[in-house]
Amino acid sequence: MTQKQFDIDTLLAQAGNRDNNDQYHSVSTPIYLTSNFRHRDLEDAETFDPHQQYSYSRLSTPTRSVLQKTLAELEGGANAFAVSSGMAAIQLVFSLFNSGDEIVTSDDLYGGSFRYFDYLAEHYGIKFSKWNGQDYDELTKLVSANTKCVWLETPSNPTMKIIDIQKVSDIAHRANPNILVCVDNTFLTPVYQQPLREGADIVVHSATKYLSGHNDMLAGCVIAKSKEIADTLEFNFNTTGVTLDPFDSWLLLRSLKTLSVRMARHTSNAKYVAACLAKLPQVEKVLYPGVGGMISFYLKDMKQVDRLFKHLKIISFAESLGGIESLLTIPSLQTHSDMSKEARLKLGITDELLRLSTGLENPKDLVNDLTQALGD
Ligand SMILES: *Cc1c(COP(=O)(O)O)cnc(C)c1O
Repeated sequence: MTQKQFDIDTLLAQAGNRDNNDQYHSVSTPIYLTSNFRHRDLEDAETFDPHQQYSYSRLSTPTRSVLQKTLAELEGGANAFAVSSGMAAIQLVFSLFNSGDEIVTSDDLYGGSFRYFDYLAEHYGIKFSKWNGQDYDELTKLVSANTKCVWLETPSNPTMKIIDIQKVSDIAHRANPNILVCVDNTFLTPVYQQPLREGADIVVHSATKYLSGHNDMLAGCVIAKSKEIADTLEFNFNTTGVTLDPFDSWLLLRSLKTLSVRMARHTSNAKYVAACLAKLPQVEKVLYPGVGGMISFYLKDMKQVDRLFKHLKIISFAESLGGIESLLTIPSLQTHSDMSKEARLKLGITDELLRLSTGLENPKDLVNDLTQALGD
């Protein structure tokens, strides 16, 4: 594990400023819009070191290398891989597994993860079992010497259950030191949670969300704690070509610089909005983990849901999260629509449950918008 040398605020603000290898010493990392790099001569091609030099941009490209180095440092991993979306990041991790492998997942995940896991079970014979994310004795029973991976999201999506990563890692590694504990850290980001420092082996992000933070790009990343796992991932990454292009690599690196400032404001806004929501007569219950920008809440009456969406003036009725603009989602119809109704209801994903990604607007304006849209 790399030792933290500077505070995360400093790492973020300085991302790529000194190690971008630019011949003119540019402060911002340049973008190399090229698919390939020239070899000087035959000897140069023969002695080529893919970790020091560049040849073909799927394998490596300077802007992405700087981004990946930054991501690895932020999460405390040996190496990071920047890919084209969060789902591509999850797919890259699953390239480590084979037919018949047993995987335990927490039961309240991003809907697209379940869709992919169902596909893997059906077409590749990977065996999944679900854990409720709360009962650690049950987890002890679920993991065995045959388990290859424990996959979780915390806080869970959309019901905001908190899972103790250190406890899960201890239980999993006691059953079998080779179990890979994988955490989707999209909701809290390394500003609030660094799973590799709590015993996890792999972190993934949908960088489409907070890491990029502006509702304007798709990206994902995988960060591996050990060099051994990173090397296997690197082979699969280069071979399948899920890589992030130079422009988006630059955009993500640029966006990361403000991550800790954005997260602090997302949190203070969400705290304010969650407290105000809890006092509204139309609101049944608010789920807010106390940190980050995501709030889920239940309305008392389904009729209020349509009214709310129709009358919002600032908050957009749109899927996704983690950007500067506030977004409101109805998980039962949007992010979690592929789950069976029974499975959804078991988790508490009713038709009255809404998920707010609190943006960076003035929090009073957000509360006023919700209040006026709900009406009397
Ligand atoms: C959005 C999301 C994903 C998928 O990411 P994409 O960038 O949309 O492919 C995965 N996990 C979580 C928690 C997400 O919110």
